[in-house]
Amino acid sequence: MENMNTIQNALLSGIASQQLELNQLIQRLIQIRSYSGEEQEIVEYIIKKMKDFGFDEAYSDGLGSAVGRIGNGPIKILFDAHIDTVKVTESEEWQYPPFGGKIVDNKIYGRGAVDEKPAMAGFLMAGKIIKQHVGNETLPFTLYVVGSVFEEDFEGYPLMHLVKNEGITPDFVLLGEPTDLRVYRGQRGRMEINIETVGRSAHGAHNDQGINAIYKMTPVIAEIEKLDRQLPAKEPLGKGSITVTQIISRAPSLCSVPDYAQIHIDRRLTLDEDQESVLKELQEIVNKTGIDANISIPRYSGVSWKGTKFEQEAYFPTWIIEEDHPLVQAGLKTAEKVPGTSAKSGAWAFSTNGVATAGQLGIPTIGFAPGKEELSHSSREELELDDLLKAAQFYALFPFQLCEATKDK
Ligand SMILES: [Zn+2]
Repeated sequence: MENMNTIQNALLSGIASQQLELNQLIQRLIQIRSYSGEEQEIVEYIIKKMKDFGFDEAYSDGLGSAVGRIGNGPIKILFDAHIDTVKVTESEEWQYPPFGGKIVDNKIYGRGAVDEKPAMAGFLMAGKIIKQHVGNETLPFTLYVVGSVFEEDFEGYPLMHLVKNEGITPDFVLLGEPTDLRVYRGQRGRMEINIETVGRSAHGAHNDQGINAIYKMTPVIAEIEKLDRQLPAKEPLGKGSITVTQIISRAPSLCSVPDYAQIHIDRRLTLDEDQESVLKELQEIVNKTGIDANISIPRYSGVSWKGTKFEQEAYFPTWIIEEDHPLVQAGLKTAEKVPGTSAKSGAWAFSTNGVATAGQLGIPTIGFAPGKEELSHSSREELELDDLLKAAQFYALFPFQLCEATKDK
């Protein structure tokens, strides 16, 4: 391979010269509405762009995600941007129409402007410039660019599908969830849990004949509230949390003693918290209150735009990779080379496709993208177009930097 600095400088200026096209790309991606499960149009658009930009392969996988490939080198790198978005609800007040892709003062507005269409625009442009400036025979890597579907409802699943069912086995993964141009190296995990109690129904006028399933649940709820305050903080991910998000009960009528109650729990997981520890902690609460209750993890199923059915348990493990890992270091070194970015690391508060790649499959994973995480899923999604340019430059340089980093080891 030519001198690395020569290549990287060519890539930096190559991307900078295409800022107008990059802006048009993000604008078009925002204009194509792509709610979870309805991504066909955007997938077809992305595949067409990959072909126009000279990717070596571009297709949609069995689930329906867009998959592109550049190069054939030994180090396999996967760039993932989920291209579905959450819905726009009627009550949301947007400054500009959410699917307009309006640009004002070098900022673009709309659903997906943060979470996370910029990454796909940047990946596409990086791929185009790499193909223009570096011949395939000299590429030390195979780069897969994935526009994954259904992440908002089933995080992790699209990449699990790719590895398990499509035979794509990356050595390293980069996620395009918003990091505000920092290198993120982990996230809190999450899980959902149901607890059910069963009682005995009776007429409300003879309530002493019944056993109230809601009353059986009450001490459990009180203990959960107490537990939330006691959960420990573990840096760099902070503390986990536990929240009762729903109560359901059943009675023969509204004038009867309920014989069934269920609570739904959202549990955010920090380091050293997993499915086993969480179920144990809840079982201890149930034992302490002396009631009989059933604890379970719900399963969700979905159908992709391609008609593919799938199912997943509502458990998404915490993951973190060490700051001194070559992947993190390659990310920080790349950030140093992109004008206007600084080499800082961090972690997400929300959950990502990394639950599958890093959490379940153990593949080293990081994140880098423009945009502020806290604007995700809000009517305030907006993106600085200069930050998008920097991210695209990062994406073009990063595979080369990563190959250098792993060569030294
Ligand atoms: Zn996202």
